[in-house]
Amino acid sequence: MAEGQDRDQGQADDRVDVLIGGAGFAGLALALALRQALGESFSVAVADPALARPPADGRATAIAAAARRLFEALGVWDAVAPNAEPILDMVITDSKLDDAVRPTFLTFAGEVQPGEPFAHMVENRDVLVALVDKAKADGVRLRPDAVADFSADASGVTVRLASGGAVRAKLLAAADGARSAIRERAGIRSVGWSYDQSAIVTTVAHERPHHGRAEEHFLPAGPFAILPLQHNRSFIV
Ligand SMILES: Cc1cc2nc3c(=O)[nH]c(=O)nc-3n(C[C@H](O)[C@H](O)[C@H](O)COP(=O)(O)OP(=O)(O)OC[C@H]3O[C@@H](n4cnc5c(N)ncnc54)[C@H](O)[C@@H]3O)c2cc1C
Repeated sequence: MAEGQDRDQGQADDRVDVLIGGAGFAGLALALALRQALGESFSVAVADPALARPPADGRATAIAAAARRLFEALGVWDAVAPNAEPILDMVITDSKLDDAVRPTFLTFAGEVQPGEPFAHMVENRDVLVALVDKAKADGVRLRPDAVADFSADASGVTVRLASGGAVRAKLLAAADGARSAIRERAGIRSVGWSYDQSAIVTTVAHERPHHGRAEEHFLPAGPFAILPLQHNRSFIV
């Protein structure tokens, strides 16, 4: 082992089997799956500066049945379910803004299995609170800190944190979002291109019920969606 690697490993203030950078849906779900599958002796830590404060993600997400089953298997769905709105009907159109009629070209209605809606709308904050609570209960080590840099060698990786601390892990998992700096730093390439579009999302309350119906209009300038939330509110994209 090179002298620099030896020094890096010696400086680590914590040692874990897996360190996950990023405590969003992906990072926290991975942490729970690893702990639950590999047991008490397998140590998992998650580092994310966002862990320093209560989740404040104001967005909402459509959780498809398969993703909901994953949350059920991880033991977090019971905490999310009371605030999740089932999508009972989805209508998709593809026409111009000033078209007199907007014919429906695709619908998804009903259930995957009897009594099982094909998707639920959830507020990200509720899912993150449930994931963090379960991670704490399952012994995942949560560090309110950012992954600043890392160096890998034959036996693992030494991860430097923004606070100045260091963690030695057998594996570092990048779950730091779509524009993952950890992925880039690891030299893992991705392919993407700009659509030259920005999305605006917001939540509105309304007088009339939405009846669990989601609508997506694919307009020439871009998509418009209105998605049902609990308490007579809808999420607009
Ligand atoms: C408008 C909009 C609507 C969407 N709607 C849906 C939907 O309906 N259904 C659906 O399935 N998906 C939807 N998505 C996509 C979904 O939100 C994302 O795919 C999902 O949140 C990604 O989760 P993630 O855990 O990978 O990343 P993120 O949720 O982005 O979390 C990344 C985390 O990494 C942390 N982080 C960043 N850098 C570091 C670092 N250096 N060290 C440590 N931590 C770091 C951040 O603080 C953050 O907490 C939508 C996305 C958008 C933008």
